[in-house]
Amino acid sequence: MNNGSVRKPKYTLPDFLEQFPDDDAALEWLMGFMYPAGVKCHVCKKVTPHHRVKSRKSYCCHLCGHHVHPMAGTIFHKSTTPLRLWLYAIFLMASTRTGVSAKQLERELGVTYKTAWRMFKQIRSMLDEKLGPVGGEGKTVEVDETLLYPRPKRDREGKAEFKPKTIIIGAVERGGNIKTEIIGYQNREVCEGYVVANVLPGSTLYTDEFKGYYWLWKRGYSHATVRHAVHEYAVGDCHVNSIEGFWGNFKTGLRGCYKHCGLAYLPSYLNEYTFRYNRRFSDVAMFNHFLARIEKMGWWVPYSERGPRSFSEIV
Ligand SMILES: [Zn+2]
Repeated sequence: MNNGSVRKPKYTLPDFLEQFPDDDAALEWLMGFMYPAGVKCHVCKKVTPHHRVKSRKSYCCHLCGHHVHPMAGTIFHKSTTPLRLWLYAIFLMASTRTGVSAKQLERELGVTYKTAWRMFKQIRSMLDEKLGPVGGEGKTVEVDETLLYPRPKRDREGKAEFKPKTIIIGAVERGGNIKTEIIGYQNREVCEGYVVANVLPGSTLYTDEFKGYYWLWKRGYSHATVRHAVHEYAVGDCHVNSIEGFWGNFKTGLRGCYKHCGLAYLPSYLNEYTFRYNRRFSDVAMFNHFLARIEKMGWWVPYSERGPRSFSEIV
């Protein structure tokens, strides 16, 4: 595990400008990234040399003239925004900690707000993680929930309209990954169920004094609590400050940068913060982690690479 004193890999703006001096360089990079072993031409049925088609964002087979579009099926699909600006948007999102607003992107790139918002939405859609349970024998895990209160609309008399709060639960392994989930209720059934599904037995669990966690010792965890109600925030090693730090970052970003987030989009914002948090100790620069997520999705993966589709996919 790294700590703060170890120099982290950096990918700075000069690095970006050197790697992507223009749009052609960006497309050339994407082509190499999508087809590292060369392009297998659909018509020639073999790997053939391809050359760049002038004035189009595609490459052409030397032998038969079949075109390959590296942007097709990725998050850049059919976008008229230059690829280099897309990569710069990814660079911005990778270099921040509490988020970059679409308004900021609009000002920096000179695109419309609608475009900027969609770009960030598309980038966030890549960041979904399918992680297994955290913790395990000899590992320490902190579990905590946080509440998001929506700003209520007020009528003419100043009476606030009722809006339900949103509850997010999370489990973080110290020095390891975090997992988060939006839950409907904050009760024993839900919270205990979440812990059992997402934290491996044998872990040392630290939580606050919420009664929903009371019976976790029966589930194979060694469990200790801190009593926030009496302003007790750490007893020796027992605290939930790591996950509180994550909530702090997330809420600061929502409040200070994004200002508003519809419930439908909340999971994608959570993904963004989780993705960065889980790579905080990585030896690879964050920008490269983001780039590694670019892929062709669903129907756009060539048939030869995808194999036969299942019935459910076609329906
Ligand atoms: Zn060909």
